[in-house]
Amino acid sequence: MVLMRKHRRGIPLKTFLTAVLVLVILTSTGLVGYIAQRHSHKTVYEMGRLLLQEISARIVEHIRAYLDTPHRINELNATAMEEGRFSPDDPGPLERRFWRQIGIYTTVSSIYFGNSSGGIVNSGREAEGDSLYVIFTEGNKAGPFFKYRVDEEGRKTTMTNTIPSFDARARSWYSRAAEKGGSVWSDIYILFTGQDMALAASRPVYGEDGGLLGVVSVDIFLSRIEQFLRSLSIAETGIAFVMERSGLLVAASTGTPALRPPEGEAAARRLGIQESEHPLIGLAGEQFAVLHGNGETFQKPLHTTFSKNGENYLFQISPLRDSYGIDWLAAVIVPQSDFTGMLEDGNRITNFFILLVLSASVLLATFAARWLTKPILRLNEATGALAKGKLPVGIEVDSMIMEVRELANAFNHMAARLHGTIEGLHTEVEQRRRIENALRESEEKLRVQAARDHLTGLPNRRAFIDRLENELARVRRFRTKCALMMIDIDHFKLVNDRNGHAAGDRVLKAFANVLGATLRQADFAGRLGGEEFGLLLPETTPSAALVLAERLRRKFEELHVETSSGTIRFTASVGVAAVLPEDESIDAPLARADEALYRAKSKGRNRVED
Ligand code: GH3
Ligand code: MG
Ligand code: MG
Repeated sequence: MVLMRKHRRGIPLKTFLTAVLVLVILTSTGLVGYIAQRHSHKTVYEMGRLLLQEISARIVEHIRAYLDTPHRINELNATAMEEGRFSPDDPGPLERRFWRQIGIYTTVSSIYFGNSSGGIVNSGREAEGDSLYVIFTEGNKAGPFFKYRVDEEGRKTTMTNTIPSFDARARSWYSRAAEKGGSVWSDIYILFTGQDMALAASRPVYGEDGGLLGVVSVDIFLSRIEQFLRSLSIAETGIAFVMERSGLLVAASTGTPALRPPEGEAAARRLGIQESEHPLIGLAGEQFAVLHGNGETFQKPLHTTFSKNGENYLFQISPLRDSYGIDWLAAVIVPQSDFTGMLEDGNRITNFFILLVLSASVLLATFAARWLTKPILRLNEATGALAKGKLPVGIEVDSMIMEVRELANAFNHMAARLHGTIEGLHTEVEQRRRIENALRESEEKLRVQAARDHLTGLPNRRAFIDRLENELARVRRFRTKCALMMIDIDHFKLVNDRNGHAAGDRVLKAFANVLGATLRQADFAGRLGGEEFGLLLPETTPSAALVLAERLRRKFEELHVETSSGTIRFTASVGVAAVLPEDESIDAPLARADEALYRAKSKGRNRVED
């Protein structure tokens, strides 16, 4: 019962429509937003993975090309000597050749040849600045070693270094190639200056008889790899580095050193990734150790993710090998927030737009609801007014909704018909009222007419008798007085006979007029029939009635009635009687008056008797 009362009024249509529209909008945008966010999350993660893969592949490809160059140069120089185009014992042409090659191959730092006597011919570029130098040993054999700066033409200018005793054959680049009998890489070594690390590619050179003529070699600086890694853009804060499988750092995109420079007594030394100053390299080192501990051998590119201190990282390690013994690993590591950050930026924008669209939609929905319900509310109002009995009026048919238009049209039709019907009813009622009034009037007229004599306009015998009954009742009840008079025109037959019936009528009218003019308010006169009239005088004594009768008789006597057949004069006789309380009916007073009248007639007419 309480529930019913609570909901009896129902929800307004506008509120309901707005609520439904807003609910639909909220649900759909929410759902779309949710799906879009989930989807973009997955997409971004996948994109991150692809980016890491792509960057790793680029690093491997680029470094392999970089590492390939020194071997090609060695190949050129070795074949040139093996084919006899350059003599291993003539340092001049070799020096010029190497100097020219240094000018061409800008990624290498030093090109040289050590002969089987321990001598060296070398041309190279300094690690710092871009100045070129040449190195040679005295007599092209083991012994004093000289390093000269050269000018743009390749001419020696100043001596920058000298070593009293140098033997090429004692160097690892020489011995390793000689031992292997083919192209080899040296170990990575730290330059004298301790500022950079280098790597030498070497190849033995053999004479026609198969004897070893010496070893050609090309140095490359690892700083070049570092420069390349630094040139990569790896998301927002991602990094890349190259390491040896032992964990020693080769180069990193971070610009953090891969070696510790000499300090006092301590010589410069290379750094392992776990020793790196850069936190991400350190983290990668830890993760690397974990993976290694799990039996991972990194023979194939490996993509993995790991978490550290609440942050997720995408980590890719790819093997970097060549056919001369390089077996490194290229690593790329990117915090996932780099991508989700982008995503969050994107989401913020999306959310802003969703909010914008949402508010616009809600506004639109409110307007739509108002617009939709307006005609219905109008209809509602109109039908409400109709229900209250007000005259129906048409409503505007301006809705765009077909059904609402039809409804409004139908309502207007109904309203018009109702209007017509009600108007019709009104006229009918009005007509009926008029007819009723007319009827009532004519009835009244008839009633009056029925009670009157049409010739004289005086009450007729019936009305007179009714009044006499009333007066008798009054006299009997209140013991009052009342006089009754009967008047008859004398020899009226003669009047008719002499002057005609019409003149007789005029005389009757004249008689009635005199009677009417002489009576008091309370008196009542009536035509009893023919030329006989009656008069009732309430509250009147017989003597007073006699006086009045006499006065009347005299008036008739003196009256001149003008007719077409001349002036007519006449007289009348009057019988007076009292209406008495003891009278049983009106017959008694009527009889008495009649007797009195008879007496007047018989006593000669034109007189009053009681
Ligand atoms: P009396 O003195 O004895 O009364 O003589 P009278 O001639 O008046 O008496 P009577 O009753 O014999 O005649 C009445 C006449 O009145 C008869 C009739 O023709 C006439 N009369 C009655 N009613 C009318 C009427 O309405 N119009 C006219 N013109 N004459 C009427
Ligand atoms: Mg008569
Ligand atoms: Mg008469």
